[in-house]
Amino acid sequence: MLNFTVGPVMASDEICRIGAEQVPYFRTDEFSKIMKENETLVKKFSGAEEAGRVVFLTGSGTAAMEAAVINTLTKDDKVLVVNGGGFGQRFVDLCEIHKIPYTEIRLEKGKKLTEQDLYVHNHKDFTAFVVNVHETSTGVYYDMNIISEFCKNNDLFLIVDAISSFLADPFDMKALGVDVMIAGSQKALACPPGVSFVVLSDKALRRIDSNEPSCLYLNLKVALKDGERGQTPFTPAVGILRQINARLREIEKNGGVEHEISKIQLLAKNFRERILELPFVFFSESMSNAMTALHPTTASAYDIFITLKDEYNIWICPNGGELKDCVCRVGHIGNLTLEDNDRLIDALKDMRGRGII
Ligand SMILES: *Cc1c(COP(=O)(O)O)cnc(C)c1O
Repeated sequence: MLNFTVGPVMASDEICRIGAEQVPYFRTDEFSKIMKENETLVKKFSGAEEAGRVVFLTGSGTAAMEAAVINTLTKDDKVLVVNGGGFGQRFVDLCEIHKIPYTEIRLEKGKKLTEQDLYVHNHKDFTAFVVNVHETSTGVYYDMNIISEFCKNNDLFLIVDAISSFLADPFDMKALGVDVMIAGSQKALACPPGVSFVVLSDKALRRIDSNEPSCLYLNLKVALKDGERGQTPFTPAVGILRQINARLREIEKNGGVEHEISKIQLLAKNFRERILELPFVFFSESMSNAMTALHPTTASAYDIFITLKDEYNIWICPNGGELKDCVCRVGHIGNLTLEDNDRLIDALKDMRGRGII
């Protein structure tokens, strides 16, 4: 299988090897040491402030989104939520369920966020801003600089879901004034799904300390306390956390987050140059290095996904709902190479030769 989806993605042989090992007991100094190192490296790679903390949760990315909302926001907040697709809608749903007052900035699918979209909300009584920096469902990558400036000018608490962008695009929590950054195991970290995490600023820690979340499993106050000694309140996905440790150390050894980003950027650039020779156009106005959303001009996007999977053993990401026939997505994260790009482009050329696209 050659996997160009956006998660789960291709893992390296080393990560697969660790996945085949026995899972050790975890109330030990050895496991605490791994957790502390995971926290240190994630802080470094996200540009967290010195006083910041990281909490690893056992649950997919949505668990960390929910944890961020219920632990740092309250009914007294007034939240601006960017909703440009499926993942923005998820934050809207979370605010609904947990009765957090919010206003949506609704964007047409595929369109970027503009200064105009923000400035109509300038100097209102908002207290927080919530955004998925890369709206993975449509492939739109929002400009964090204009968001950061807007939030600083309006003194807004800033929550950023960077799940599909972390390690693929430059991101500096401290410089951008981000209070909560959310990421997960199965995107550019290229580990199995099942672990997500929140990186917290000092301001976020103070909010958590003064809140009482209505959830036992996602209570960050308790998780932070246990995290001080490298432990978790409940049995975590021990095996995946060991894989995450190996992966973070590998990134550090290879030259850090900048090197990882440039590798992904190279794959994305190579693919984007070559795909335009085929009957596709880009769907999104502004792209993350992590993924290219494509609109095929001669065939159904869903049929292309099925043919690639069933006849070429190459997996790309289909879209659901109204975009099903109109958009498919190609990821550039995970253990991929330029030769893998060749295979995908060759398969698409073959499909063109057969009159499928
Ligand atoms: C993948 C992803 C998530 C997490 O989804 P899960 O299925 O819960 O892991 C959240 N937000 C974005 C932007 C994503 O790309």
